[in-house]
Amino acid sequence: MTKQEFIKQKKLFDKKFEQNDIFYAVAFVALLLLNWLLVSYFGALIESWIVTYLILLLSSLFVCMRWIKKLQQREISNSDLRCFSCHGLLIGDLADLALATDHCPKCGQHAFENP
Ligand SMILES: [Zn+2]
Repeated sequence: MTKQEFIKQKKLFDKKFEQNDIFYAVAFVALLLLNWLLVSYFGALIESWIVTYLILLLSSLFVCMRWIKKLQQREISNSDLRCFSCHGLLIGDLADLALATDHCPKCGQHAFENP
């Protein structure tokens, strides 16, 4: 892809990631609220099962984070932000370097197609 197309794609990609961040923040707050509701309604019951409850809470947080990471990884590898020469992914700092120098930081060849 040409440099112009790359810049356009990068903007779209960054925007998508920003939206995802908001979604993850909302999901996290929802989980905390749910936890607070459970504790205030079933406080006595939870107190006697505190260890089980904590394990469940921590593992749900862990699963949530794993899931988010997996989704992000998939989005990154599905993106079109790749070097024109070696087809290596150009994300984050690599993308900025490629845009600044016109060359791929991975293979050193031209990162963009000549228009
Ligand atoms: Zn390359």
